[in-house]
Amino acid sequence: MIDILVIGSGPAGMSAALYGKRAGLSVTILEKNFYGIGQIAESSEVDNYIGMPKMNGYEMGQKFREHVDSLGVEFADGEAVAFEKLAEGWQVALKDGEPLLAKSVIYAAGAKHRHLGAENEEAFIGRGVSYCATCDGAFYRGKQVAVIGGGDTALNDAVYLSDICEKVYLIHRRAEFRGAVATVNKLQELDNVELVTNAEIVKVLGEEMVTGVQLKDGKVLDVSGVFVAVGMEPMTECLQGVVDLDKQGYVIADETGVTTAEGFFVAGDVRTKMLRQVVTAVSDGANAATVAAEYCRV
Ligand code: NAP
Repeated sequence: MIDILVIGSGPAGMSAALYGKRAGLSVTILEKNFYGIGQIAESSEVDNYIGMPKMNGYEMGQKFREHVDSLGVEFADGEAVAFEKLAEGWQVALKDGEPLLAKSVIYAAGAKHRHLGAENEEAFIGRGVSYCATCDGAFYRGKQVAVIGGGDTALNDAVYLSDICEKVYLIHRRAEFRGAVATVNKLQELDNVELVTNAEIVKVLGEEMVTGVQLKDGKVLDVSGVFVAVGMEPMTECLQGVVDLDKQGYVIADETGVTTAEGFFVAGDVRTKMLRQVVTAVSDGANAATVAAEYCRV
């Protein structure tokens, strides 16, 4: 039987695996996507992880992956859909394939992109609507695009796209931005970026491909690409009834990762916390694995 089954291969899961393995336990990481390295892969630049200035997110994720690979951590492909506490440990049912059995679980599945809820948004996904500027930005070279949101992701996406696109509209529902002031200042200095505040998109326009967005006040902006960056939602649907969740769906847990279910720990963006960053995810993984290791030894 596996000692620690880590669910998710982002920074929290990778760090949990490293600490679990170094504690002498058997560790398997279950990942939904083959060779996944988590959301970090989508960041064009991570500049707030000490010792790794201006790091490309994908490269950072690869470094984490190489490190745990070198320790002999096992990887399994699959999506966990249900959890059952048996006398000997946790039985984890997968969408496809045989269930896994582990003495303890560290759930570090992260969060997914929130959608705007605008008319036609879903219909144009992959045909002009994107949730990842660094993944899809290159398809919009020389074109006009809109970025939606007021947090650090939207601000950074607008900076990134301003290098590639002819024009970037940054559309935010309020006058004040939630993200870093320094990035807002930088955007204000860029000739091809226009900040559109107190504005909401009600409809994505187009036939085959996106041709524009319609704002609540009726104004239409002609764009070929719509990059939605309005935050994340935790990947915790499968935890309903397993552990206590807060109103937004985050698992209620402090930095130890201890949940309301015995032997079931959480780490990273899925738990209630102040700051969701790589550094706090990595810290969570270390803490949760240390507590899980103690639990496995009793
Ligand atoms: P976020 O900080 O939660 O910001 C989401 C933004 O989307 C907010 O401005 C919000 O508006 C807006 N929004 C939410 N729902 C909306 C809707 N239905 N329609 C229109 N707008 C909507 O999310 P994030 O930018 O993804 O960042 C998440 C975390 O990662 C944050 O802690 C952030 O600091 C961190 N991060 C850090 C970096 C970095 O380089 N340091 C990079 C990316 C992210 P309101 O402001 O009105 O609520």
